[in-house]
Formats: sequence, structure tokens, C-alpha cells
Amino acid sequence: MSALARLCDDIRACQECELARHRNRVVPGAGAEDADLLFIGEAPGWHEDQQGRPFVGPAGQFLEQLLSSIGLRRDDVYIANVVKCRPPENREPLPAEIEACRMWLDRQVALIRPRMIVTLGRHSLSRYFPTETIGKVHGRPRQLDGVLYYPMYHPAAALHQGSLRQTIEADMLKIPEILAQGREEPPGPIEDRQLSLF
Ligand code: SF4
Repeated sequence: MSALARLCDDIRACQECELARHRNRVVPGAGAEDADLLFIGEAPGWHEDQQGRPFVGPAGQFLEQLLSSIGLRRDDVYIANVVKCRPPENREPLPAEIEACRMWLDRQVALIRPRMIVTLGRHSLSRYFPTETIGKVHGRPRQLDGVLYYPMYHPAAALHQGSLRQTIEADMLKIPEILAQGREEPPGPIEDRQLSLF
């Protein structure tokens, strides 16, 4: 069993926050353990809570379409969430719950070591850039401590607000070029800065 699989087993046993009392199944994450791209959403919804897998409902279907638009399948990337258990009534995760779950996501990132972290939605963006707003920074890559971050709207946003669909699709189409540019960036400690491409 891989270190990531063991970590996911540990996550499944977690009781660190109130959400443990409400969940049906824990949703640690899924995908390629050596993925270049790590997508981080907000929290499991009803479908995910039933199946124990991330992004399996309507938003997940849209995410698969988005991945397909850049020639990828979900098994080519890793998909996780800021919190691993479904908040009751699909409410937003509370700051204390996000904080309690922080260690799990940090350990996943440390094991996967993705080349790019794609934050999906507001909570995922805030996890790394608490002062930024998604409306301002979506579609604009940023490098921090040697990791490339790319904020996008959450795919579910397109389901609630159809006008965002094209924006999300356009942001996804930029990813291959950003990754290619990131390969040319110098290694080493890197200050928080925007890349020049977009
Ligand atoms: S949300 Fe995270 S911290 Fe809370 S019980 Fe689930 S796995 Fe543990």
C-alpha cells in the first residue's frame, strides 16, 4: 500500500471535527498519486458523501468535461477537497472545520507533490490566498514557495450561474500553456508573484 493510500485510510478514520458526526462516508480524494495537477474543491456534496469519491455529482460531470477539453481524464489528475466530510444540508464549511482538516490536505500535497494546484472556488482559494477574491484572480496563475497555483471558479458555480460557464471553460483551456511556462520558471525560493503569461 502506498503512503498516499495509507494516508487516505487515516483520513477515513478521522474524528477531528464536528462533520464526522454528520457524514455518511469520508471523501479523502482520488486520482493519480503522481499527478502534475491537483484540483482542490470545497467539500463533498450528497453524491460524494454516498460514494466516498470526490466530484461524482453534476459538478463532477462538468469537471470531467473540462478535463476532457485539455485532453485529460480524471484518473490523470488528483482531485480532493478542502474538507473531507460533507457539511450538513450542503452548507459551507466553517473556518474551524477547514482548520481541523488542514493537516490532511497538507499531507496529501506533500505526498503528491503536484506541479500545479488548481483551486476550485472561494474556499479553496482562501486556503492558500486568504486576502484574494475569486472574481479578481481566477484564470491568473501564481507561484508561491515553488508551487504553481491556479485559481478557478468552482464547477458548481456554472450550474447555478450559467454565465460563468464560458469563463470556467476558458480558464481551463489556459492550463496546458501555464504548465509549459511553469516548467521554464527557475527553481528555488520564489516570492509570491504573478506569472507574466496572463
Ligand atoms: S472534515 Fe476533515 S477534520 Fe473534519 S472529521 Fe472529516 S476528515 Fe476529519
